[in-house]
Amino acid sequence: MADRAAELPRTRGNLFVVSGPSGSGKNSILALVRQSLPDLTYSISATTRAPRRNEVDGVHYSFMTKDEFDEKLRGNGFLEHAEYCGHSYGTPRAFVEEKLSAGKDVIMDIEIRGADQVRLAMPEAVFIFLMPPSIEELANRIRRRGTESAEAVEQRLKKATEEIPSVFRYDYVVLNQNLEEAAARVRAIILAERSRVAKCDCASFICSMTKQNNPF
Ligand code: 5GP
Repeated sequence: MADRAAELPRTRGNLFVVSGPSGSGKNSILALVRQSLPDLTYSISATTRAPRRNEVDGVHYSFMTKDEFDEKLRGNGFLEHAEYCGHSYGTPRAFVEEKLSAGKDVIMDIEIRGADQVRLAMPEAVFIFLMPPSIEELANRIRRRGTESAEAVEQRLKKATEEIPSVFRYDYVVLNQNLEEAAARVRAIILAERSRVAKCDCASFICSMTKQNNPF
């Protein structure tokens, strides 16, 4: 159900970093969350991997050649970047900083080494880990997707078992047993974080409400 939540003013937007092994359901969960919170801005990553069928350049990813990616990297154009199963992935820095400065909340879907870099650069960000119900289910989901070669599936499963213990560095963990339930939980986390006093500009709200100068 899409609705526009009533929000207090904010001086800066919240950054939500979502990670989880390949096949943990990140894309489907984020699609539901974004549908229910249309004011959330999605950070479109750059990648050197080839588009899957149905993936659109500039919507799902900015698809780049390795040369284009490396040039952007040399220009300090990425907030974080990592190699994943033989391809480069990175978060364009300017877009995220612009949105956060404008008070907009940003959500990004990145792997754990990228999340570690964001944690260093922006410790105030909120880190959410999507946990698959089991390795078997993860394997089924990747195979069912049918977008990866048998070799790439094996590589992603190996990566998943390495990635799962990183959960301890995250603020929240959401088990993706059921898609709708997991999406509802991620949405609840976002709404709770938006309600933190420290993250709202309560002073200017009270001033406009009481028509007084700032006593705080
Ligand atoms: P996929 O190829 O399945 O779309 O993504 C592979 C992995 O790369 C996923 O774990 C996804 O979260 C991660 N990923 C996507 N975009 C970025 C990014 O900008 N930076 C980093 N570090 N990882 C990313």
